[in-house]
Amino acid sequence: MRKTIIVSNRLPVKITEKDGEFSLQASEGGLATGLGSIYREGNNIWLGWPGQEITDPKQQEKITRQLRQMNLMPVFLTQEEINNFYEGFSNETLWPVFHYMAVYARYDQGYWDAYYQVNKKFRDIVMQVAEQGDIIWIHDYQLLLLPGMLRAEMPEISIGFFNHIPFPSYELFRLIPWRAELVEGMLGADLLGFHTFDDTRHFLNAVSRILPVNTSANVVSYNDRTVVVETFPMGIDFNKFSALGNDPGVKHQLQNLQENFQQERMVLSIDRLDYSKGILQRLQAFELLLQLHPEYVGKVVLYMIVVPSRDTVPQYKELRDEIDKLVGNINARFRTLSWHPVQYFYRSFPVEVLAALYNYADICLVTPMRDGMNLVSKEYVASRNNNDGVLILSEMAGASKELIDAIIVNPNNIGAITRAIVDALNMPLPEQQRRMKQMRQLVSKFNINHWVKLFMTRLEEVNEMQQNML
Ligand code: UDP
Repeated sequence: MRKTIIVSNRLPVKITEKDGEFSLQASEGGLATGLGSIYREGNNIWLGWPGQEITDPKQQEKITRQLRQMNLMPVFLTQEEINNFYEGFSNETLWPVFHYMAVYARYDQGYWDAYYQVNKKFRDIVMQVAEQGDIIWIHDYQLLLLPGMLRAEMPEISIGFFNHIPFPSYELFRLIPWRAELVEGMLGADLLGFHTFDDTRHFLNAVSRILPVNTSANVVSYNDRTVVVETFPMGIDFNKFSALGNDPGVKHQLQNLQENFQQERMVLSIDRLDYSKGILQRLQAFELLLQLHPEYVGKVVLYMIVVPSRDTVPQYKELRDEIDKLVGNINARFRTLSWHPVQYFYRSFPVEVLAALYNYADICLVTPMRDGMNLVSKEYVASRNNNDGVLILSEMAGASKELIDAIIVNPNNIGAITRAIVDALNMPLPEQQRRMKQMRQLVSKFNINHWVKLFMTRLEEVNEMQQNML
């Protein structure tokens, strides 16, 4: 029977080790939930790195067996591969260029070699399970070469690829020494998906500048094959976030927040530590608010969660130090005996705490310099069952193309962010409700299940179209 193979860098599991014994836990991220309806069915399978270095062959065998019961298959990576393929080429070359931070990019032949080799490793493991007629859906920038590598082995197989981060303008993409190999790898797919029309357009433009292809609208013809390139804005599990408001654990957390913040209004900020997230500019905007509007001293708090990430990469460590310093300065400058302007947490929280914060916060402030989509903004909207609250959203986040009823800001314009916070604090309830209702309708309808169905249906249509052209 025809099966679907999902491939991503990380498997949707968390492995924890205790006294040499490993235990596996399914992760609850949005993508894992959305794709859950696929990979758990029948012979379908999800392939990826389990997220830990495991060297002992006996342990590898044991974990493989356990994973297979969950329809998962591991691609084990050595520490050197993790350093050069994942932290190196993926996170120090592709990530900065794709997020328009080209000055942070390192172009290192050793990183590239590892990227190529690990994509090949993924290919070999996919080949162990793939059969003619199967559908393969590959995810994200760590595996840009995989579609082409698989196509070379299985010319007839159906391959979809979705890029979860932005695709930059050609003028940035061209900086990468291996640009031709990268787009050629991607063109091994039958259907290429991006979050926004701009990403799609940037890809089409890049590929037509770099390779001898023919493009007509959103179809690329290359080496006697056609590749369809389309926009699929990813959604979230709306029902989960909406329902969490009634969860007893979340209600308890909410009560705590209500007791702790009786006098203050809350501006919420949640991201992973990343230079693409605009965290420093956001802090500066909040500082400017307190400076220009002393009436808000003691009345507004910025509740800021930064989830630790990639702290082996030097720029991330520096960013963390700068955030620490700026938060310290703002708090030292404006705090009163009973009030701290910035409540800063450098750690992650369980979803119940996030849900309580989403429910409680008057304003959610999301100002990335670049973001493929940004799920936090959608999770805030989904959590607002009362239709109140204000979302301030960067125009550089993919989500801003859909959530047009947010207050949209340019994240480099500190003054504009400050003004947006003032506007949000003063927005009359009926206007909050009008905007929030519109956004909730959209986030509810275009949820993660809808996204998965849309992509899979389109991939089938593309395959039929290709059949008819033969
Ligand atoms: N998140 C989390 N724990 C936390 C804070 C955030 O699991 O303590 C989740 C959050 O719910 C969201 C994701 O992390 O689903 C962040 O996704 P987003 O698209 O906003 O940014 P990314 O980190 O993927 O760049």
